[in-house]
Parts: sequence; structure tokens; C-alpha cells
Amino acid sequence: MATTDPQQNASLDPFASAYAAAFANMDQGFCFLEKVDTPANKPPDFRYQMVNPAFEKHTGLTNVIGKTSRQVVPQLDERIITLYEQVARTGQSTQFQTYVAPLDRWIEANVFPISQQPAQIAVLFTNITDRKRAEEAQQVSEVTYRTLFETMEQGFGIGQILPADQQAGRPMDYQWLEVNPRFEQLTGLARADVLSQTTRQLIPGLEETWYEGYGHVAATGETVSFEAYSPVLSRWFEVYVFALGSPASRRVGVLFSNTTERKQQQKRQALLLKLADAIRPLTASGDIMTTVSELIGRHYEVDRCGFAELPPPYNQLVISRDWTKAGMPSRQDAYPLSSWSGELIRRLRSGQTVVDDAGKDSQNPPPEAPSKRAGDRGSRIWAPRLKEGQWVGSFFVEDAPSRFWNEADVGLLEEIAERTWAAVERARAEEALGEEYRRKDEFMAMLAHELRNPLASLANTLLVLQLTRGTDENLSYPQAVGQMSQQVGHMSRMVDDLLDVGRIRYGLIQLHRKPLDLVTLMRQTVETVKPFYSQQRRQLSVSLPPYALPMLGDETRLVQVVMNLLTNGLRYTNPGGHVWVSLQLEKDEAQPKQALLRVKDDGIGIALDRQATIFDIFVQGETTLDRPRGGLGLGLAVVKQLVVLHEGSIEVHSPGVGEGSEFLVRLPLKPESAALELPHLPVFNTATGKGRVLVIEDNQTLADMTARLVALSGYEARVSYSGMDGLVVAEQWRPDVILLDLGLPHLDGFEVNRRLREQSWGQSLPIVALTGYSPQSFQARTEQAGFAAYLIKPLNLPQLRKLLSEVVPDQ
Ligand code: ADP
Repeated sequence: MATTDPQQNASLDPFASAYAAAFANMDQGFCFLEKVDTPANKPPDFRYQMVNPAFEKHTGLTNVIGKTSRQVVPQLDERIITLYEQVARTGQSTQFQTYVAPLDRWIEANVFPISQQPAQIAVLFTNITDRKRAEEAQQVSEVTYRTLFETMEQGFGIGQILPADQQAGRPMDYQWLEVNPRFEQLTGLARADVLSQTTRQLIPGLEETWYEGYGHVAATGETVSFEAYSPVLSRWFEVYVFALGSPASRRVGVLFSNTTERKQQQKRQALLLKLADAIRPLTASGDIMTTVSELIGRHYEVDRCGFAELPPPYNQLVISRDWTKAGMPSRQDAYPLSSWSGELIRRLRSGQTVVDDAGKDSQNPPPEAPSKRAGDRGSRIWAPRLKEGQWVGSFFVEDAPSRFWNEADVGLLEEIAERTWAAVERARAEEALGEEYRRKDEFMAMLAHELRNPLASLANTLLVLQLTRGTDENLSYPQAVGQMSQQVGHMSRMVDDLLDVGRIRYGLIQLHRKPLDLVTLMRQTVETVKPFYSQQRRQLSVSLPPYALPMLGDETRLVQVVMNLLTNGLRYTNPGGHVWVSLQLEKDEAQPKQALLRVKDDGIGIALDRQATIFDIFVQGETTLDRPRGGLGLGLAVVKQLVVLHEGSIEVHSPGVGEGSEFLVRLPLKPESAALELPHLPVFNTATGKGRVLVIEDNQTLADMTARLVALSGYEARVSYSGMDGLVVAEQWRPDVILLDLGLPHLDGFEVNRRLREQSWGQSLPIVALTGYSPQSFQARTEQAGFAAYLIKPLNLPQLRKLLSEVVPDQ
């Protein structure tokens, strides 16, 4: 390094030699610079005159004497030269710190003026790179820690332990000196409260373990980590505690996270797993409910836990299974819905889980308190089960009032309910399937039996025929044929039913609908069964309306329906028994036009508990093979399906075994059939008590006039302008007498009369013929047809009055 030896000049001046020594030994780098004469248009520069030994250490530059600043550091920051120049020019020293990129170091420089002419300066250099870097690092770490503190996922706090004061009787306590924002979120405590109060003030009742744990760390300097539940805060925490400073400072740093969710998730998975394991081996729906009730009851340590079901017709809640804590009574029973809080029922119906604080006795429901949702206190939780929108049952837990149920508990109970109901429903479906298999087996046995009887009979008859060639006097040829065709008929019906059941089951039956008159169909079908009834000494009474009941139906199938019902009537009555068949027009709100067919008998009746399943396939009243009345248990199933295919319905009523049965079949009629409407016809004098007179007359003026005369005579009168209308009015109004014109168009008076006579109520009804012709021509015929009298038109009042007083029965 080129330096000027200060020793050489030491003798010249004692100060100078001191300076020289200082110059040589000083720790900072030092140099003299002189401004270079450069043309005005060139940038200024300074030349190194002299440097001390430390110069190289600080600047990292060597052999600088005689070179200019720009030569030594080619990309020197222009501002440095400017500063040098300024110091030289103004004589004012200055100071700067700068990062010198080409040297990759921080330099601190003090620039002093030496002389202005020539312009000389001295510069003192210190390499401050290390210091600078340390400062930077410091800044970075401060920002980093602050950011970390503010944004970290974990809660962090610095706690000051406040030792116990035995004399004042104060236990150990602690207070937070600083907490991060996450601390507030995780604990639910506000920072301001936390910093201004001790923990005992802030959270009375906080478990002692927390105090002990922190105190231990502060006293021993040990680092501790643990996971603990705080019932007071109802959260799980994973905590890492370490001492800050010496034990004397009694400070701890606490780093924690809220693990409630993870913990709950673990517990939830464990419970669900346990539940699944418990349910898996069970096949009976009742066992599943019992097992789940016990498992959940014990797990939550509740008073009672169980299942309530709401079977059709949905008016009572049946607690089918429950588990209770020792000493608590079971509540397995049926309760009318009205004995429960209306609010509870309303909520369950709408599919909401209810957490509320009802009294424990459902028989004595509390006043309607508004139900609350999860996260609330309540004595019970009811989770509803909906099936196709209908509330069908609930899983419930009940406990002492005001137990705290958090959102997770409620959610878990809902899930358990969901899973258990699904398992129960699966088990029930299998139970039903088992039942169906059992019925099928029974059915197969029955089928073999049923087919063997007619077959045996056929075989016997055939054998007799073969042996006697029709000459046996006990079995004539026609008798044999009759017997055989009866057996074949019986077998055919069974085979038809069998085929139909299969087709119905798989939806293969298609109706071939066409317009038909149900009354005619009934009349014909009844005719075909009548001989069997008389053969078997059963009485058949038939009541059909006098008018048509038009509908769109499959004639063959409807005949099948009626035949099956009538055959059953025959089979399930005893000799001398009675079957009543009636058909009528029925009107109600929902279905303005429908026919009601009733088949009633005084036979063996049907037990109440069998009535619900009587229309199922393979269901029979008697299940022994020895069934003299026969049948495969398919008839009613076929009947029901066919009725339903016609958009109708069927129901059975029987007071019980031995008390007869009645089947009601409803079939929708053709909506546009006007004949079924009660015609809006004039009514005369409605307020008298002398009797009801119906005038059927196609000449309207004459009809109205006649009715008026009738009304004037003190009777209630109605008119119909056609035979068809007259029949409808007569059936529905049931007059005491009918004045019937013989010369009606379409249905004439004789036909109307004939139809009226067919009715049970029409058999002895006085019907008076009205005619404009000479009486002689009709007299014999009207008498034969059972007319009570006849009147010649135009009528005269005295004659009419006399006649009415004679024919109208006394009221
Ligand atoms: P099947 O008559 O072939 O047994 P059905 O389906 O027609 O089959 O009837 C099912 C069961 O319903 C019968 O076994 C019988 O017990 C009962 N049943 C049907 N009709 C009557 C009735 N009119 N009176 C009493 N029981 C009846």
C-alpha cells in the first residue's frame, strides 16, 4: 500500500508527529484528496494524495495514491463527488452514509475541508456494513414477529403469574400482559378485558389445572404442552407453555389453538363407529332401536333416550323403545298427539329438530315455550324423521332441565337419528320381505291343494263316465258334463286370477276402456250369478238405479270385479245367508260424480285385525289348509288393483267374525254425463206437509200447470220434462206419488213405470197415468202395469184433488 511515512516528519513538529502517529494507527480509514483540474465540460474528480493503513481495511481499495476517485471506483455514485466538491468549495465539513454498490459495502464518511486553493479535502471512512446489516436484520425480524403475532393461526399471550398470598387468603392467579388478535377469537374473551383483569376475576370457576400448569412453568422454567377441555369455555385447547425470562420475572408465554372441532370430530367418528358396530349384527328393527337408545343414552348420560313413532292415521305418538337411566321410569306407551306441546309437534312436522326445556312428563306438557335451536340449554332434543314429507317419528333424548347442548351435539344426534332410522327401515323392509316369502310358501301349499280338489273331482267324474258310458242312473251324462264344466270353471277362475296377479304386479294389465253403463253391466252380471245363489241356497237382493250410470271402463275387468265380490258373498255366507247388492249415484265434495257399489252379506265376517291386509296378495281369512270355502286369496287383490286402475277405491267393513261384511267400491263416472245431474226443474209449494207429488210430462206448459194445481191442493210438487229426468228426480227426491204422462218421447211412461217398479222404494209407489187418449185403449195395459189410476188430460181440479187424497198415503 502506498502511504506517506508520518515518522519522517515527526521532528518537524511535535503535533505533526502526533498526528502522523494517529494517522497511522487510527482505526478508521483516512485519506487526503485533491480536486483534479478538469475542463469545465468534464465531470469533476478527486485524486488520492495520501491514505492511512486502515484505509484499505475499510474501503477494500488498494494502490489508490495518484489515482482519482472515478478511476478507483469506476461506477462511483455521482452524489459522493458532488459532496466532495461542495465541501471543498464551501469549507463546510459533512457526513454521509451510503451503500457503495461496486464495493458491496456500507461506508460512513466524514468529509472535512483542507484548503480551497488547491481544492483539498480529507475523508474519514468507516466500514459500517456489519452494523447496517445487523440493523436491517433487526428491522426485518421485528416486522416479521409483529406480523406473525398479528396473523398467526394460534392464540398467543404473555402471562404474568400473580403468586398466592397466603395471608390475604388469595390463591395464585395470573393476568395477561399481551395477547394477539387470535387469542380473542379462540377464547371468546375481549382483549381489553383480558388485559385489565386477572383471570380469576375474568373467568370465575376456571378449572384450577390452568393456574397450576402456568404457575409450574413460571417457577421451574420447564416447557409444557398439553391438550385440555375447559367446561367453562366449553372448548378444547391444545396449549404450549414456556417460561419467559428468569423464574423471578414469573412470566410465561402461552401458545395455543382451539382443537374443539378436531376433538369433536374424533369423538363423533368414534361414536358413529361404535354405533355402526353395534347395529351391524342386528336384524330385528326393535333390537336396533333398543341398542341405539342404550348406547346413546349411556354416552350422553341422559335420563332417557328412545324412539317415538307416529303410525297412520298419525294421531298418536307411540314411544316404541326407550332406554332410561337407573331409577327413571320407561315411557313406552301410546300418547294422543294432543297431549304434547302443539309447538313441539308443529316443529317436528316441519322437519325441525327441537331443543327445548319442556317438563319431563309428556302427559303434562308445559305452557308453550318457544323452542330453541342448538347451542342452547334444554331438557330434551327431538330429531324428527320425515318420509315423503310426512313426519313419521322421532329420535329423542331427555335430560335434567337446562342441560347445555352445543351445535355439534345436536348435529351428531341428528346424524345418529338419520342413520338409525335408515337401519330400522331397512330391517323392516327385510322383515316384510320375510313375511312375503312366508306367505308365498303358504300360498304354494294352498295352490296345490286348491288345484287338486277340482282335478280329483274331474278325474272321478271322467272315470265314472268311462266305466258306465253315461248309463249310470246316479250320474246322467248331462249331470256329469255339468259337474265337469263347473270344476273346469272353478279351475279357470283360479288360473285367471293367478295370471292377473302376476300381470298386475308387474303393471302389465292395460284397461280397454270404452263408454258403458254401469247399471246395465251390473244387471247382466247379477243375472249370471243368480242361478249359483239359488243352487246354494243363498238369497241375493239387488237394488239398481232406474237410470243409467255412464262411465269409461273396461267391461270385462269391471265384470271381474263384481263377479269376485259376488262369488265371495256366496262363499263366505252360510246356507240360507243373504247378500245385498246395491248401486247408486254418490256425490261428495271431492268427487262430484261417482258410483257407489255395495256388496253386503250376513256371512262369516272378517276379524278386525285382518281387514287392513285383506286386499293384499295371498292373504286369506283362514290360514289352515282345511278350508271348505276354497280360494287362493287372490280375488280381492285382483279386485282392488282393477278398481284402482279405474281410479276408484275399495274398502271393507265388518263388525267382526260372524257378523257379516260389506265391501264398498267407488268408481268415477263420466264427468260430462248430464243425466246424472239433478235437473234444475221448478218446485212448487215447498212448505206443505200433505205429501210430495212428481209430475212427469214432456209438455212444459201442461206440466207446470198440473204442478201448480197440485200445489194449490196443498202438496209439494216437482216437475220433470222427460222420462230420464223423472227417474233421477224420483230416485233422489222419493215422491209419494207420481203423475206420469204415458206419451213421453224416448222412454215412454210404461218403460219409466217398469224401471220405477224395479226399485225397492218404487214397488208400491202410487203412479198415476196421464193420457190424452181415450181411457179404454189403455185401461187394461195400465192396470196390468200396476198404475194406481189414470187421469185424462186436461185435468180438472176436483178430480185431481179427489184422486190425490185417495192415492197419497197419509203423512
Ligand atoms: P279367496 O276368497 O280366494 O281366499 P280373496 O282375495 O277373494 O281370496 O279373499 C281373501 C280373504 O278375504 C278370504 O280368504 C276370506 O277370508 C276373506 N273374505 C273375502 N270376502 C269375504 C266376505 N264376503 N266375508 C268374509 N270374508 C271374506
